[in-house]
Amino acid sequence: MHSFRYVKGQLHCENVALADLAQKHGTPLYVYSQATLTDHYTKLDQALAPLDHLICFAMKSNSNLAVIQTLANLGSGFDTVSAGEIQRVIAAGGDPRKCVFAGVGKTEEEIAYALRQDIYSFNVESEAELKRISKVATRIGKIAPIAVRVNPNIDAGTHAKITTGTYANKFGIAFEEIEGVYARAAKLPNLRLRGLQMHIGSQLTDVKPFQLAVTKVAPLVARLSAKHGFDFFSVGGGIGIVYQDALASGDAKWWQSKAGKRVLTPQLYANTLVPLLKPLGLKILLEPGRFLTGNAGALLTRVEFIKKTGKKNFVIVDAAMNDLIRPAFYDSFHEIVPLKKKAGATVSSDVVGPICESGDYFAKDRPLPKVGEGDVLALLSAGAYGSVMGSNYNSRALAAEVLVNGTQSAVVRRRQEIAAIWENEQTVSW
Ligand SMILES: *Cc1c(COP(=O)(O)O)cnc(C)c1O
Repeated sequence: MHSFRYVKGQLHCENVALADLAQKHGTPLYVYSQATLTDHYTKLDQALAPLDHLICFAMKSNSNLAVIQTLANLGSGFDTVSAGEIQRVIAAGGDPRKCVFAGVGKTEEEIAYALRQDIYSFNVESEAELKRISKVATRIGKIAPIAVRVNPNIDAGTHAKITTGTYANKFGIAFEEIEGVYARAAKLPNLRLRGLQMHIGSQLTDVKPFQLAVTKVAPLVARLSAKHGFDFFSVGGGIGIVYQDALASGDAKWWQSKAGKRVLTPQLYANTLVPLLKPLGLKILLEPGRFLTGNAGALLTRVEFIKKTGKKNFVIVDAAMNDLIRPAFYDSFHEIVPLKKKAGATVSSDVVGPICESGDYFAKDRPLPKVGEGDVLALLSAGAYGSVMGSNYNSRALAAEVLVNGTQSAVVRRRQEIAAIWENEQTVSW
């Protein structure tokens, strides 16, 4: 579901009017729904009930402490990609023993830190990394739990920048080489070969690539598990969400775009994959990011100016690509709606930010209701890969973040002070 809807013409997140939040906390403002986070986690958790499983939230999609806390309280583990992310889990009260640690460039310091926190597993991306983990573990007297990431060479059919499971990508080790890698890993000291991992891409709206990848990899897992005594198989993340017309589709059909295009539901995902996974008799790990956080967030932004040129109607807003880079980076679509519902004809508009880049836009030639200076707009489905990719480009402060729970709301990240942007810098004496 998503918890953004109009009540008496005013856009609400759960039972809180977004106009009140914009008024109180200013814009640009990220707003998250705790009900949506909980609902999506629970739907997936229940669909997977036939399996011994652990959901490891891919916190790179949204690592706000309150988001981590919400999911940790539901029992979630975490897919982390840096020592900083593991530290965040601990800072939010999560359990490092439910953390997996992925990424192609883990440093010795990060490996040592993760070992000392007794993480669940390293997801290893190369043989050089296996050797490094073995070396660090030996040095500090720990046994490192590891899973190698297999690249199954399956095209996820998604955007090139979020395709990860083909041989053109930097991730994982080729399917054909995996057994040799495990045989050599078994000879390295202080490693425990605990499982196998894969992740084929992001924003998959069809179950087929998952089905192909699991069908291809499951027999390999069974063979390796027989040899090395595995505990788990991680099928990665990548479950897609609705970006287009999510609001219009409403709560009951949150998985369906207005055009009727159905995206993956947890039930369809489970119905397809459980029969393939259950016979392995292993714990199954999942690493969903976007599915848990994407629809749970909106970015609120105020209209500064309307600028009409011969060709275009520009709606210039106070949020920019430094707040939400997805349209510039991935050509992403975010539904844009005014907080105050507007009737009447739409105007083809470009919604752009104030940054000095042509790439600083949120929508092009989009039919939007006629809006004017001071109106506040919501960019929907901005909870994943939104604020986490924020930057200080153009010396713009990072936006504030608010978490809503029913009628309550709390600031879960204060708006950055302007002077804090350069607090780690200094001028020189010459
Ligand atoms: C990014 C990533 C995920 C999460 O992807 P989503 O599409 O957000 O579910 C999971 N696993 C790995 C290894 C990733 O890199």
